[in-house]
Amino acid sequence: MPFQVHNQSNQIPPILEVQGLKKYFPIKGPLGRFGGVKEQVKAVHNVSFKLYEGETLGLVGESGCGKSTTGRTILRLTEPTEGKAMYNNQDIFQLSEKEFRQMRQEMQMVFQDPYSSLNPRKRIGKTLEEPLVIHSIGNKKERTEKVMEILNQVGLQVDHYYRHPHEFSGGQRQRIGLARALVVNPKIIIADEPVSALDVSIQSQIINLLQKLQEEMKLTYLFIAHDISVVRHICDRIGVMYLGRIVEEAPVDSIFASPLHPYTQALLSAAPVPNPKVKRERILLKGELPSPLNPPSGCVFHTRCPYATTRCMKEVPVKKEMSKGHFVACHLHD
Ligand code: SF4
Repeated sequence: MPFQVHNQSNQIPPILEVQGLKKYFPIKGPLGRFGGVKEQVKAVHNVSFKLYEGETLGLVGESGCGKSTTGRTILRLTEPTEGKAMYNNQDIFQLSEKEFRQMRQEMQMVFQDPYSSLNPRKRIGKTLEEPLVIHSIGNKKERTEKVMEILNQVGLQVDHYYRHPHEFSGGQRQRIGLARALVVNPKIIIADEPVSALDVSIQSQIINLLQKLQEEMKLTYLFIAHDISVVRHICDRIGVMYLGRIVEEAPVDSIFASPLHPYTQALLSAAPVPNPKVKRERILLKGELPSPLNPPSGCVFHTRCPYATTRCMKEVPVKKEMSKGHFVACHLHD
């Protein structure tokens, strides 16, 4: 378990607070940059959440729901359209390039496929030293020592320093991805589907490793995943995303015991049940995820919701707190 967990009922300020985040991708007209913006893909729309020191907040939802874009926008891998991301009383989006580069040491990202970002001709040790060079940390000897230490912490061996990326298995490559993020001693890790490309047995090893590292290095995680059953084992709280919005947010036990949003209920109905004697009725959603180019009016889930009414088609539901730390945006709970 994480070394310290705070929830929204605590008065302790969050380590990161995202407020009204929007990320729209413009679609240019037929004349490219001379054709003006034709339409916008609304990948992230008004997303707000707080991340408390030492906790793991999961962002879950189907592919294309905006969870990865949210993570990438916080780290300015793509520029936001609107909103704030407050870290240490500073809005990340307002920092100069120089200020942001300094802050970036404290906030790192782990990707689904670390292999694609590893230079196949470079020894792993050298790749892991790169972030230390970028942030001007230590001299040559200290950097090598730091890399050896981090290899050990992520469960790799010292002689792995001299190997090339193709000599590692999928699970080992993800350990390298973690090592690269951790080598600069960050405070926050944004992990974007870090286990979804791995076999189930390897997934649990990486999840256990993430938990161990969280305790040892006092880390805070934003854990992005499409599989709600994966986040159950690592997260303290979960935010469920649908079409660029967070529709439900709650402590993990609360969301598994009593999901309130019809979309969360459908996601959970498809998740494997640990006890095979417990039968759960599968809720099949009608239709496909609508296009973020032209999201439905009112509640964006109304085109697939089994409980939709005419009100749902017209009125956007407002997020409400139904019990301690359990928020939902749905007219059923007014
Ligand atoms: Fe379904 Fe209406 Fe609730 Fe949206 S607001 S989830 S359409 S019941």
